[in-house]
Amino acid sequence: MNKKITIAIDGYSSTGKSTIAKQLANKLGYVYVDSGAMYRAITLFSMNNGYISKCKFDIPSLIENLGNAFLKFIYNPKLGFSEMYLNDVNVENEIRKLEVSNLVSKIAEIPEVRKKLVGIQKEMGKNKGVVMDGRDIGTVVFRDAELKIFMTSSPETRAKRRYDEFVEKGEQVRYKDVYDNVLDRDRVDISRKHSPLIKAVDAIEINNSDLTKEQQFQIILNLVEEKLRNV
Ligand code: C5P
Repeated sequence: MNKKITIAIDGYSSTGKSTIAKQLANKLGYVYVDSGAMYRAITLFSMNNGYISKCKFDIPSLIENLGNAFLKFIYNPKLGFSEMYLNDVNVENEIRKLEVSNLVSKIAEIPEVRKKLVGIQKEMGKNKGVVMDGRDIGTVVFRDAELKIFMTSSPETRAKRRYDEFVEKGEQVRYKDVYDNVLDRDRVDISRKHSPLIKAVDAIEINNSDLTKEQQFQIILNLVEEKLRNV
């Protein structure tokens, strides 16, 4: 019998959570859910509707209109993962821009936003066989996940990774702005009142500063296989 488990991957910004989550989902035939993409999509929705900008944050209007933001993941076989759609528009590229990154942690502090997204996430994982990454997956969304991983790495490594991703996409960003954004998001994510980023007591911490992607994948795959033998 093919037993399926739930894998929760949490950790700081740009620690490579989505890379390992996608690798595991592909290897195991599980569904991968990027919960950060959902917070990013709500941020884009708020920017497009003028609820949030660098100098303005109209929380009541955002909450009032939250029901008008329809989120959907659609699998892209060419990419091998699901892309984020906001009101039937593919926003996968737009939500990764630095403008969105600079505002997303403010949006993620709002309890009404978290309630809506956590509800969708729980529904997506109810049949197990899911790998979800984020900040509160092991502590709030799937407290009973069979395997919980908490990813860390040095701020410099993380900023460099994110910066290289921007360069690869041909985007003009300054390393210093990316570095500041990574640290700033961590600060807000750790200190927020609702569902702060915290390592679950039963999570296994992986610091990947000195690991290659392959080494990291092998370490975590071993943990998955051990869990699967024991469920
Ligand atoms: O994972 P990613 O860096 O794309 O997430 C963007 C932001 O969304 C995080 O910095 C955090 O503020 C928020 N987030 C969250 N809870 C999650 C996933 C993301 O608060 N489960």
